Amino acid sequence: MPLSELPVATAVIRSRRVVLPDGERPADVLVRDGKIEQIAAHGSLLVGDAHLTDLGEVALLPGLVDTHVHVNEPGRTEWEGFATATRAAAAGGVTTVIDMPLNSIPPTTTVAGLDAKRKIAEGQAWVDLGFWGGAIPGNTGDLEPLHEAGVFGFKSFLAPSGVDEFPHVEAADLEAALTEQARIGALAIIHAEDPAVLEAAPQQPGTHYRDFLASRPDDAEAAAVARLLDTARRTGARVHILHVSSAAVLPLLAQARADGVQVTAETCPHYLTLAAEEVPDGDTAFKCCPPIRDESNRDLLWAALAAGEFVAIVSDHSPSTPDLKLLQKYGGSGDFAKAWGGIASLQLGLPAIWTEARKRGHDLSDVVRWMSAGPASLVGLTGTKGAIAVGHDADLVAFDPDGEFAVDPDALHHRNPVTPYAGKTLTGTVQTTWLRGRVVDVDAEPFGRQILRTR
Ligand SMILES: [Zn+2]
Repeated sequence: MPLSELPVATAVIRSRRVVLPDGERPADVLVRDGKIEQIAAHGSLLVGDAHLTDLGEVALLPGLVDTHVHVNEPGRTEWEGFATATRAAAAGGVTTVIDMPLNSIPPTTTVAGLDAKRKIAEGQAWVDLGFWGGAIPGNTGDLEPLHEAGVFGFKSFLAPSGVDEFPHVEAADLEAALTEQARIGALAIIHAEDPAVLEAAPQQPGTHYRDFLASRPDDAEAAAVARLLDTARRTGARVHILHVSSAAVLPLLAQARADGVQVTAETCPHYLTLAAEEVPDGDTAFKCCPPIRDESNRDLLWAALAAGEFVAIVSDHSPSTPDLKLLQKYGGSGDFAKAWGGIASLQLGLPAIWTEARKRGHDLSDVVRWMSAGPASLVGLTGTKGAIAVGHDADLVAFDPDGEFAVDPDALHHRNPVTPYAGKTLTGTVQTTWLRGRVVDVDAEPFGRQILRTR
């Protein structure tokens, strides 16, 4: 087709390494009006220079879908906000973010809370943005209106969440929430640590990571997951286990699936790329709950990933201000027991995972399955997001799989320069991010859209 016949909103992106649902190969991807219109043989689409981006050996991936991000706005915008989070996302190759219902104030536990969030997010998102709701004690009546308003499901905590306005559910609350979610067809997403096991564990405050790890044992996850699966079995609810850190839960998931329980699970870059053995004492940038465990546990998580036992790898990006992290470099105590539990990694998930995945013999198709297609399927966005396929949104990432960089926290778009990846050398650089066919420029106007669960 000669240049003059191409509509303005048409472009071809060419790469020797296009990561398609059935594998990686050289291809031309024709984008029109924000959608992928055609996938053709490499070099076969005739377009003028103005319409062609030839990436050479740089890979073309579908934009990542990160279904576990704590944006924290409104209410704790100094921790992170829509502008900073979505800039970081775009710079890290993430084109869809689903925001968690806490630590914003108000939390997303009522339609009014959702409306407040949607209003303040308007015009501030560099990527597409959706919302989870929250199921807390006493808000069972809010779940159906929130579901109708388009949240992607409901988060509950089985142990204290860390913020007062988002209390955890006891057995009776969980039963009520899951019964209602089964009735309305919503997805329940669960932070699974058991408060009784946590209370019984040795609580030794201080700067030693080993003491912190002992205070959040594998059993806390396993006991909580067992209890959750029991309730899911009884109520028929669809459940998703958030941020699995302990390999001890894997046999429980396998058994439940075999029994016909609808259960999925995710894990996170920090559990797959970091290990307790390497956490420096006092470096609370590494604190999260559940915690980063030993290398042997990490190997089991990778084996489970390879076996398809996790539907997604998502960031669980949950930053706070440096003072709440009690970081020693900012004059804090470095006390793991008291520091805010949350890891900031939204912009770094893709290179962190790629660095480790490649070492372990995985390819870009695996990474795309775990970080794009999988999370898209979790939230019912298969068909628009998470794949380079005809008819999908042209959310694309030019990714140099051989590029290397040293992580400089001050150079990240995260609001606060705190991350456990500081100083590490990671492999894989995001060169360009396209959202619905347009190059995302984090210094220009944002054009991300709010997306709602479709019925
Ligand atoms: Zn989280």
